[in-house]
Amino acid sequence: MKMLKEKIQKEGIVLSDTVLKVDTFLNHQIDPQLMQEIGKEFAARFKDAGITKIVTIESSGIAPALMTGLILDVPVIFARKRKSLTLSDNLLTATVYSFTKQESNDISVSKDMLHEEDVVLLIDDFLANGQALKGLNDLVKQSGAQVAGAGIVIEKGFQTGGKEIRANGLRVESLAIVESLVNGGVVFAEESVN
Ligand code: 5GP
Repeated sequence: MKMLKEKIQKEGIVLSDTVLKVDTFLNHQIDPQLMQEIGKEFAARFKDAGITKIVTIESSGIAPALMTGLILDVPVIFARKRKSLTLSDNLLTATVYSFTKQESNDISVSKDMLHEEDVVLLIDDFLANGQALKGLNDLVKQSGAQVAGAGIVIEKGFQTGGKEIRANGLRVESLAIVESLVNGGVVFAEESVN
């Protein structure tokens, strides 16, 4: 997605050979126009998949997920990372090891939100080693719902998550695939040229 890749080139900060900081438009400050375009793109890619719900993880998945839900006209559920007083039982839970925080967290969604007849689109901000996406996929499957695929804003193609998850048969659509972050520059993979 051209607009996204230009934004990454302009505002992304390469923190190391493996970590990209995009705090000016996705992970801290949010660019609503860009999120709207991202929502349109995910909605277009999954328009024929019969999606009934979108599931993401707090907090950075919420903005792109919400915009996609608005266009597909379906509810958006975000898995919570912290225990909550109002969300304490009747939970679907999965454990996710965080790449950026280097710690494990349980993520949960109320069983009331997902049902066997649902067809779910997973959305997240980044795909690196795939832990977050695998956790989301596990969690949704516990409900008996079908997972139609995943929409990822930025995939780091040099890490193994995308390859493994696609090899397991899940459709993964990434709007920008970063091939390399070495020497402080962002290089995109050919597949994400459009
Ligand atoms: P994974 O579970 O695929 O290893 O990592 C995905 C999660 O880690 C994403 O939800 C995102 O929050 C975070 N993450 C992974 N790599 C990066 C990165 O390079 N930059 C930022 N900002 N977040 C990342």
